[in-house]
Amino acid sequence: MPVSVRHMLDAKGRNVVSVSRDKTIAEVAAILHENKIGAVVITSLEERIAGIFTERDLVRSVAVNGASVLSQPVSSAMTTNVTRCHEDNSLNEVMEIMSSGRFRHIPVEEQGRLVGIISIGDVVKTRIHEVETEAEQIRAYIAS
Ligand code: AMP
Repeated sequence: MPVSVRHMLDAKGRNVVSVSRDKTIAEVAAILHENKIGAVVITSLEERIAGIFTERDLVRSVAVNGASVLSQPVSSAMTTNVTRCHEDNSLNEVMEIMSSGRFRHIPVEEQGRLVGIISIGDVVKTRIHEVETEAEQIRAYIAS
């Protein structure tokens, strides 16, 4: 059975670091640093996804606007057209979405609410585990 987003969330947990749209970019930078993560999801009431802000957006904002942008709300620099996935999407589908969209994070949504996030690191870790398991099964089959 192909590995699904549900399997990945069961393994890594469903906690997502999310912030409201009025947090400043400096506050969000501190949150990224403290949590050792590359992205936060911006949510409105009831965990609805309003945007995503990643370390790349932080670099772009400062490079384009200078350090004064740090006091601006994160809503001024977040991506609002967020590509989401669902728990029944497969690992391969998520890899394809990340590759064609050229981003490294995909929030997981169910019934319009944020329920998890998959990063490129999660994808790589799961894929390595999958390849190792397949190799073990082939070795066991050959040996039997
Ligand atoms: P990343 O590679 O995830 O750091 O993101 C690169 C750029 O894509 C940044 O401008 C992000 O705001 C944006 N981005 C990240 N994840 C998504 C997503 N799931 N949907 C749309 N844009 C995204």
